[in-house]
Amino acid sequence: MSVLDLFRLDGKVALVTGGNRGIGKAIATALAEAGASVAIAGRDEVRNREAVTELTGLGGAVISTRTDVTRRPDLIAMRDQVTERLGPIDILINNAGIGIHGESLTIDDDGWDRVMATNLDAVWKASQVIGESMVERGTGSIVNVGSMSGMIINRPQWHAPYAVSKAGVHHLTRSLAAEWAPRSVRVNAIAPGYTKTEISDIDLPEYRHYWIDEVPMQRYAQASEIAPAALYLASQASSFVTGEVLVIDGGYTLW
Ligand code: NDP
Repeated sequence: MSVLDLFRLDGKVALVTGGNRGIGKAIATALAEAGASVAIAGRDEVRNREAVTELTGLGGAVISTRTDVTRRPDLIAMRDQVTERLGPIDILINNAGIGIHGESLTIDDDGWDRVMATNLDAVWKASQVIGESMVERGTGSIVNVGSMSGMIINRPQWHAPYAVSKAGVHHLTRSLAAEWAPRSVRVNAIAPGYTKTEISDIDLPEYRHYWIDEVPMQRYAQASEIAPAALYLASQASSFVTGEVLVIDGGYTLW
């Protein structure tokens, strides 16, 4: 077996939350190219369908489920649909996320709650709902999408709820990794830096100094540069890695 075979996912079933655009779609593409059958979960059915069309033919079967990750009944229905149509889920990518910017004194309870519900609570709930069958089967790999914002304080925009949610994702990753390691379920995270997607306004000239010039590599990432790390953590290439938070930030957190 060559080392590259360890990255192959032939016969595996992968589920990517928020897989219909941005980083999630790039990860779903990478997993499909590696041979997995892929399910995309998101709320927007049009974007879900477009992503399925784009990914079909790359690897195994590709399907989507209309899912709001903040709702446990949706997550249970998502698990059941994917299991019925593709088979038991081997890989869970908890990627769905939202961000809000604002000074802390201006953010109301609804803002805090929405960010926590999507970015942290949903990772907990999806890990429980999907992780249960992984633990029972004694196999599985969960990759959570955290952020360098869970490690540092970004400038110049403030976003305390987002940063706290991502720090929570990193520690939830370590907690579940320790608990489920004896059951052969690995739990890891990636922590991207500034990445060009719909969620991030990284092209705004007023942010250039902070978001580009201050990055040691002096640029932002494309989503396609984040995806290979998720493939590594999802696959047997990382068979002895668990509880790790892999930073992909062009060096930003070095300062
Ligand atoms: P996008 O806004 O481009 O995509 C977000 C995805 O999440 C969409 O597919 C959206 O689908 C889905 N989503 C959001 N809320 C829900 C929900 N309640 N239920 C189901 N799906 C949901 O964001 P990015 O690709 O930029 O971000 C992806 C992840 O990467 C996030 O966790 C983000 O925090 C993280 N990240 C991003 C960085 C960046 O610079 N872009 C840097 C570091 C981390 P739909 O609307 O159809 O539900």
